[in-house]
Amino acid sequence: MSGDPLLRAVMVKASAIIDAHGEELTALDQAVGDGDHGANMRRGFGAVAGNIDELAALPFGAALQRAGMTLILTVGGASGPLYGCGLIAFGKAASDRPDNADQLASMLKAGIDAIKARGKSDTGAKTMLDLLCPVHAALEDGAGIDRIRTVADDALEATRSMQAKKGRASFLGERSIGHVDPGARSSALIVHAICDVLEGK
Ligand code: ADP
Ligand code: MG
Repeated sequence: MSGDPLLRAVMVKASAIIDAHGEELTALDQAVGDGDHGANMRRGFGAVAGNIDELAALPFGAALQRAGMTLILTVGGASGPLYGCGLIAFGKAASDRPDNADQLASMLKAGIDAIKARGKSDTGAKTMLDLLCPVHAALEDGAGIDRIRTVADDALEATRSMQAKKGRASFLGERSIGHVDPGARSSALIVHAICDVLEGK
């Protein structure tokens, strides 16, 4: 098999986990948005998994960029361009698979910066950034896989008490408080998928 087997495994795992949690993502988005996040993410990650042979044959960074482009073309909604741009920047930051946490952290930083720029957003607005930024900080601190999982789960839960300032949920004003953010949940699922693969699960 050409390409990077670990990256292939991550893409397949992320797609499977998103698919398994599609209804949960839909329910979360029904509470604060328009209820399409599960379908959007299933469509996008399904397209990545459906194209896995072609994607995984590419060099590491190029494969990530192609996956990002696939998400832009298929996910739709606000989250498609955000995840897509983020993944493209993440892939551009690496030509080869990172072999330490610092390299992975700087790739993630590039992805986060792209999402911030595209979404004109930052942490505290109850979005995927409230999941990705704490995970990035933990990576920079040298956290291990178990700690990364816990940081992701805690960051997800912390979105519950936030008021949405960006995206459709912001239309609800204070009524967005009390619900976990759907995009933070999908980001947590992707973080868990990566952790699973790195642990050999
Ligand atoms: P839409 O809101 O267009 O229906 P989705 O339901 O697929 O798109 O995605 C909603 C998620 O996208 C939100 O839960 C949030 O995490 C994320 N999101 C929306 N707007 C922004 C933004 N400006 N910056 C970062 N993330 C955002
Ligand atoms: Mg939606």
